[in-house]
Amino acid sequence: MKKVIVIGTGISGIACAYLLKKEGFDVLVLEKEKHNGGKIRTIKENGYLIEAGPNGFLYNETTIKFIEQAGFSQNLIQANESSNRKFIFDGRLYEIPQKQQKLILDNFLSLKSKLALLKEPFVKPNYDDETVAEFVIRRLSKEFLDKLIGPMSLGIYAADPYTMSIMSNFKRIKEIESMYGSLIKGLIKLIRQKKASATAASGSLTKQLYSFKDGMQSFIDHLSKSLNILNGHCVKSIEKKSIFKVYTNIDCFEADYVVLATPAYIAADIIYNLDKDLSDELKTIPYSPIVLSALGFDKKFANSATDSYGYLFDLNKINYTIGVLFDSSIFKYRSHEDRFLVRMFLGGALRPSVIFKNNLEILQCSIAELQRSANIYAPFEYYKIIKYTHAIPQYLMNHKQIINDLQTFESKHRGIYFVGNAFYGVGFNDCISNAYNLVEKIK
Ligand SMILES: Cc1cc2nc3c(=O)[nH]c(=O)nc-3n(C[C@H](O)[C@H](O)[C@H](O)COP(=O)(O)OP(=O)(O)OC[C@H]3O[C@@H](n4cnc5c(N)ncnc54)[C@H](O)[C@@H]3O)c2cc1C
Repeated sequence: MKKVIVIGTGISGIACAYLLKKEGFDVLVLEKEKHNGGKIRTIKENGYLIEAGPNGFLYNETTIKFIEQAGFSQNLIQANESSNRKFIFDGRLYEIPQKQQKLILDNFLSLKSKLALLKEPFVKPNYDDETVAEFVIRRLSKEFLDKLIGPMSLGIYAADPYTMSIMSNFKRIKEIESMYGSLIKGLIKLIRQKKASATAASGSLTKQLYSFKDGMQSFIDHLSKSLNILNGHCVKSIEKKSIFKVYTNIDCFEADYVVLATPAYIAADIIYNLDKDLSDELKTIPYSPIVLSALGFDKKFANSATDSYGYLFDLNKINYTIGVLFDSSIFKYRSHEDRFLVRMFLGGALRPSVIFKNNLEILQCSIAELQRSANIYAPFEYYKIIKYTHAIPQYLMNHKQIINDLQTFESKHRGIYFVGNAFYGVGFNDCISNAYNLVEKIK
């Protein structure tokens, strides 16, 4: 039986280990921490369920298949209806209309940006990579960037749209531009096609946001049960002989294959002896810091805004917070019925200094923000602050080159593979899709 060592128990490592074991490999997982899950961690305290990392994932066929395969689909929960309401704070909380056409009729965008929408089909495509900011300003307007795409880039990827690569982060959008010559023309065609196929496939799960009743970590715990995981083993290096030798702070293990599912800057140290150049290159992948501030309130202080998914910020209106989520409105079981839970994200690539603030300062920033943007002046009855110095990897303009070099390394050192959110997508769904891709490569 071929032996595989997987390094890291984030969703990337755990999913790979699980699928490889199903394929008949002898799998050993090495994890430096005592707990499994990496960024996925669920905290249950004072009647609140706080996600320290992701709180859910959008419907995705591969992910749902994986959860079903793992026998965990009975724990899936779907987001509440109210989570369809989303806002942008541009000085007021503007509710993003669910019908895109209404965005044009509202006073959210200036006349200049509305006209830019009409001109968009006539803007020449650019087949080269560019930053998200360059792309949006070229095809639409700076206002579109500040009020819609910028907030998304910052709120979802914790990224600076002026440095992130459109090709590496929003590949599909760039493909639509290349295929149809215009985003608007492309999107209209795709929506029509989607509508047609949705009618044909009626009865399937709706394309919604999902999570697990007991939180994201419950899935990691479930998968971990069937795996051979050694916690407290911090991998230091790999040696390549007739087989691979993997050295940890405690021991040395041998395997036919090694899967690196750690953050890029850690993988860089681990492969240093094998390829110093790639090691240096991996270290150029920056990670944005994030501070998560979770606050619990008595439900009597809830207002119309809190009965929603939450909101992002116009780039010109950011203090320190880059996103606010009303978790107990999004999913059931996140707080007692008579309480509500808010999770705020501070920092990201545009406000990295937040990470140096102490907890009291972070609480002050969070309270001030809720007062300013959501009109919540109530006292919180519970709080939790979690800091990530390295929260989310950033795919900058050199990302494509890094991936090419990584793949060259994989073909030179057959048997070593890289997965993890630093390379092929930062979302939960991406990590699971990559695990399937990896299994195809190995078997
Ligand atoms: C605050 C926050 C909110 C997020 N929200 C969402 C969301 O709502 N939806 C979504 O889709 N995505 C979200 N994401 C992104 C998503 O959570 C991550 O991309 C994903 O969980 C990363 O998984 P991973 O396995 O690639 O990496 P990680 O979770 O970082 O796992 C890496 C693992 O490697 C281990 N490790 C490190 N060094 C070593 C070593 N030397 N030896 C052994 N083990 C080692 C670590 O301890 C860790 O367990 C969020 C991320 C953050 C930080």
